[in-house]
Amino acid sequence: MIVDVAIIGGGVHGCSIAYHLAKKGVRCALFERGYLSSGASGRSAAGARHQFGTEVNCRLAIYNLEHLASLKEELDPPFPLEFEQSGYLWITYSEAQLRQLEKNVSLQNSLGIPSSILSPEEIKEVAPAIDVRSMLGASWCPKDGHVNPHTLTFAYAHAAKRLGVEIHAETPITGLRRWKDRVRGVQTATGDCHAEAVICAAGPWSAHIASWVGLDVPITPERHQLLVTEPVERIRHPFVLCMDDGSYWKQCPNGTFILGWGNPLDIKEISDESSWEFLHEASKGVLSKMPSLAGVRVVRQWAGTYDVTPDSQAVVGATPVEGFFLDCGWSGHGLQFAPSIGRIMAEIVCGEEPFIDVSPFRYSRFEEGDLFFEPACI
Ligand SMILES: Cc1cc2nc3c(=O)[nH]c(=O)nc-3n(C[C@H](O)[C@H](O)[C@H](O)COP(=O)(O)OP(=O)(O)OC[C@H]3O[C@@H](n4cnc5c(N)ncnc54)[C@H](O)[C@@H]3O)c2cc1C
Repeated sequence: MIVDVAIIGGGVHGCSIAYHLAKKGVRCALFERGYLSSGASGRSAAGARHQFGTEVNCRLAIYNLEHLASLKEELDPPFPLEFEQSGYLWITYSEAQLRQLEKNVSLQNSLGIPSSILSPEEIKEVAPAIDVRSMLGASWCPKDGHVNPHTLTFAYAHAAKRLGVEIHAETPITGLRRWKDRVRGVQTATGDCHAEAVICAAGPWSAHIASWVGLDVPITPERHQLLVTEPVERIRHPFVLCMDDGSYWKQCPNGTFILGWGNPLDIKEISDESSWEFLHEASKGVLSKMPSLAGVRVVRQWAGTYDVTPDSQAVVGATPVEGFFLDCGWSGHGLQFAPSIGRIMAEIVCGEEPFIDVSPFRYSRFEEGDLFFEPACI
């Protein structure tokens, strides 16, 4: 098989990149070792927000949210994307975290994002079911929201296929084809694919794949877990995240509640096995802040893997190996970046200037010691 670009990974990023490349008339093939969205994409909490603490993420977020709102029309999938802007609250009980939220909001406002700091009384207005006792405040953006991670991934794949992209599910990449010093394609158990460029969008597996060409991508896999309840009557309830204990929860458009908890001690390996401890701790963390959820039945729980870099920022763009590009390291916030980064990766691979400067995400920053930490993540 001969194409212009081979993409490794059928998560939301790989599928968005494939769509954006195909829109430019680039011939590409996408290879996924399992089924589409079987990695972190299909295991996420479906949150999409403007509330980041670094400029590049805020700029990309503005584009992401704007595009998620019109994406159904653009991609025309035969199913809904379940995009909804029901707001996002970052609550805190600590002075230090409140100062950080104020800093984030000030940066966000300077870029035109309509976020603000709320007092406990104001929190009650946007999320009446929360117990605000001892809470110091929160940051809030009404334009943040929810998008279904499965249908978002499938919608990109669907549109990419319509434009001629070959999508090969159940096809692990087993090696990279080399010619002189550059990468010229990928190897699979059923044959090779020759390509002028290869993009690795393989989440936490990217570090291993990049090592085949001598690159050292500092990604630590980290297990994260979620649970979902039965659907209950819809109430006015945004995505709520506690800065202090890492618990978070929200009501989805179908009435179910998703509960999560970023346990700093959870296992640091690729894993999709969930634990009893999680069920207990996540419920405890959330019920103390929203007691009315007590008694709502849990339907299922699951786990997925974050791909975490030393500064919790992504790795995007060209690498020192000609023909080999990276889009990985999205930690726990990559789902929502599919619209902007799909477009940007297509621009980079085609030799164009990206529409937003993503040079802070360059691979070489680790060697240069030029890390820039994202404070708004768990
Ligand atoms: C519990 C949890 C909650 C999250 N919540 C949110 C959230 O609310 N909002 C948000 O924006 N983000 C969230 N995220 C993060 C988000 O899910 C990820 O950042 C995003 O989905 C990454 O997409 P991706 O396409 O880069 O990677 P993935 O979806 O992981 O896709 C990579 C794919 O590469 C494939 N692959 C690996 N090796 C090979 C190989 N050798 N050959 C072929 N294919 C290969 C894998 O099978 C996988 O499907 C969450 C993640 C988790 C785990």
